[in-house]
Amino acid sequence: MRADLIIVGAGMVGSALALALRQQGLECLLVDGGSLQAEPFDAASAYEPRVSALSMASQRILERLGAWPGVLARRSCPYRDMYVWDGSGTGNIHFSAASVHADTLGHIVENRVVQDALLERLHDSDVALLATARLERLRHSGDEWLLTLADGRELRTPLVVAADGANSAVRRLAGCETREWDYLHHAIVTSVRCAAAHQATAWQRFTDDGPLAFLPLGERNGEHWCSIVWSTTPEQASELMALSDEAFCSALGQAFEHRLGEVLQADRRLCIPLRQRHAKRYVEPGLALIGDAAHTIHPLAGQGVNLGFLDAAVLAEVLGQAAGRGERLADERVLSRYERRRMPHNLAMMAAMEGFQRLFQSDSLTLRLLRNTGLGLVDGLDEAKALFVRQALGLSGDLPELAKAR
Ligand SMILES: Cc1cc2nc3c(=O)[nH]c(=O)nc-3n(C[C@H](O)[C@H](O)[C@H](O)COP(=O)(O)OP(=O)(O)OC[C@H]3O[C@@H](n4cnc5c(N)ncnc54)[C@H](O)[C@@H]3O)c2cc1C
Repeated sequence: MRADLIIVGAGMVGSALALALRQQGLECLLVDGGSLQAEPFDAASAYEPRVSALSMASQRILERLGAWPGVLARRSCPYRDMYVWDGSGTGNIHFSAASVHADTLGHIVENRVVQDALLERLHDSDVALLATARLERLRHSGDEWLLTLADGRELRTPLVVAADGANSAVRRLAGCETREWDYLHHAIVTSVRCAAAHQATAWQRFTDDGPLAFLPLGERNGEHWCSIVWSTTPEQASELMALSDEAFCSALGQAFEHRLGEVLQADRRLCIPLRQRHAKRYVEPGLALIGDAAHTIHPLAGQGVNLGFLDAAVLAEVLGQAAGRGERLADERVLSRYERRRMPHNLAMMAAMEGFQRLFQSDSLTLRLLRNTGLGLVDGLDEAKALFVRQALGLSGDLPELAKAR
């Protein structure tokens, strides 16, 4: 089988790219190792442990790709405030959507919900899909790539886009270099039921061992649920994973200073080792990396998929413009336009998160004093806070048309 462009990976980012390319009038083949079937949604079902804090920019992109109604029809939770405090001091900071005259700071949505809303749109479109198609080999054959799938099928194309996630097979098989480092931290993620309502607020407490976030979840049986991301040392993470549900809820309530009362119930826990990884280049002739295949970032800021959606929107825009000018899409000069627009933005976000992580991770008394005073100072500076909020909304920098206000 041959296609002008093949996207490997139909996760949230690859699926968004396929729909965005279609809007540009470009054809592609979207292949994934999974089934590519949306599951029927049951509002009483347990939450998926993996959630994303979707920014306003991501919301706009999903709206314009027609997937946002599918998100709202399933389950999501807008949040209007963010409250961050330092557990070993007195520093705290409060951000609000109202400060920038916005309705929300973003939406907390289960990854499965976003994925299924996108899959629904893909099945309604004429995008070519290839399910249960796991890439195993990739090699150059003249001006084209030859992709070999696990079942032996072969695909040919002049342009491959890697959207196959943090452990990208395309990136490995094409020999793309990355810079990576271990945070020596693991994140425990799960959903928990609290005694008190979450007040449409994202809560983040910095503990001596790492940040602990409580993110508000959409309604389920009239109960108060939050998604938690608890980043901590590998040793503490394995201790916490070994606890009974009751003992885990008690330890979590304590670590969170019972801001939302007792933690009454916890769903299945996942433990994820945290690595930051960044490809040295996002493109080479006939190849582009997007989403987690290009960069994985600390979940502290909840920015991973937001950066990926912007990658997808910019790449579709660049390719659409190039096609309009009659340029060859696989040409490295064309693909470099995408890299030039996205790499500085992604690097800046990763560096900011790295700095934040180090500041809060440090045991040094000076840094502790600095962060407490710093948080207090910033909390008093309306201008600085508004700038941060605009960053969190994803509305700063060089935005693609899909993410701009209309
Ligand atoms: C603990 C944690 C919390 C997070 N919280 C947030 C948050 O609050 N906000 C946020 O924005 N981000 C968050 N993230 C990051 C976010 O989950 C990722 O950025 C996002 O899932 C990446 O999407 P993707 O489509 O690039 O990759 P993936 O979701 O990994 O999708 C990759 C796709 O490629 C397919 N695939 C893989 N290998 C092959 C192959 N060989 N052949 C064919 N198909 C293949 C897979 O089946 C999959 O469908 C978090 C991450 C972690 C670990």
